[in-house]
Amino acid sequence: MRRVRSLLDLALAGLALWAAWYHTPAGALVRVVSAHVFGTRTTARPLLAYYSAGTEGAQAPEVIVPRPPLAPAAALGAGASAAMSRLAPAERERILARNHLRSAAPEGLSDVVARLSSVHRSREAGVLAFFCGGEAARFAVERAGRGARLEDLARELPPSYERSISLAGDTLTLGTAYALACPVPPWAHVTSPFGMREHPVLGGQRLHAGVDLGVPVGTEIHAVAPGIVRRSSEDSVSGLALVIDHGSGVSTVYFHNEQLLVHKGDHVAQGQIVSRSGNTGRSTGPHLHYQLDLPSGPVDPLRFRIARPHVDRGGTDL
Ligand SMILES: [Zn+2]
Repeated sequence: MRRVRSLLDLALAGLALWAAWYHTPAGALVRVVSAHVFGTRTTARPLLAYYSAGTEGAQAPEVIVPRPPLAPAAALGAGASAAMSRLAPAERERILARNHLRSAAPEGLSDVVARLSSVHRSREAGVLAFFCGGEAARFAVERAGRGARLEDLARELPPSYERSISLAGDTLTLGTAYALACPVPPWAHVTSPFGMREHPVLGGQRLHAGVDLGVPVGTEIHAVAPGIVRRSSEDSVSGLALVIDHGSGVSTVYFHNEQLLVHKGDHVAQGQIVSRSGNTGRSTGPHLHYQLDLPSGPVDPLRFRIARPHVDRGGTDL
């Protein structure tokens, strides 16, 4: 009995230490200091956060931290790496061996795909060559023509290449998504994240298909990549709305603007000012609803773009 008691005491002491380490200001202080001393990273909350619970707005909203957009070649390497991460090890090894690579690290893939793109004279043919082999890519380019899109190249190959073509498509889509810049200035913060949320008016859980970025009316909104404007119009829900098609199945969406600066059919450059943000349509306050659409549907744009999102109260859409 005594033995059980002492074991229980030991477990309780351990629990108390764990709680102090993770859930008290003193624990946070020790973790921050030791992380500083040893040069490691820590997930400890800022000390003041322990004293601001329940006091609205006591903590300054943390700004989003956009990483610099990846250059197109690096983004394509990241896309190939992400597409291959879903494969069974044997299949991944086969593709790596064909391209004389030891690992699926983005940097190595980026170099190989860049070389193949220059040999086959286009990004699409280069990615196809990476997954299908140079001979198949050359055959497809000869028949479909130089600069042909992946779907045109794919039509020239037999059905046995279907899987490799699908991987090439995923790589081009993800590679385009990894090269997207940020549409708002770096001080903007997230007022409502991507994902399921309680609908403020209609009730029930619904997918919030983009992120809401809190910016004052009139803030310059930048195209996140080169593309063609597919929509530039107004409706009662989205307000003044823009949709830009970046190719490879990637589109970006910008809602609730005050003013649209481009027209349907316009070609835009990365960084070009395409609108001024506002509070139009169904919106509770000034913000930009920014959405990233892939062929599979909308995905969280912050997954591709931003180091650490922080949620803050502010304008959102209904
Ligand atoms: Zn929204």
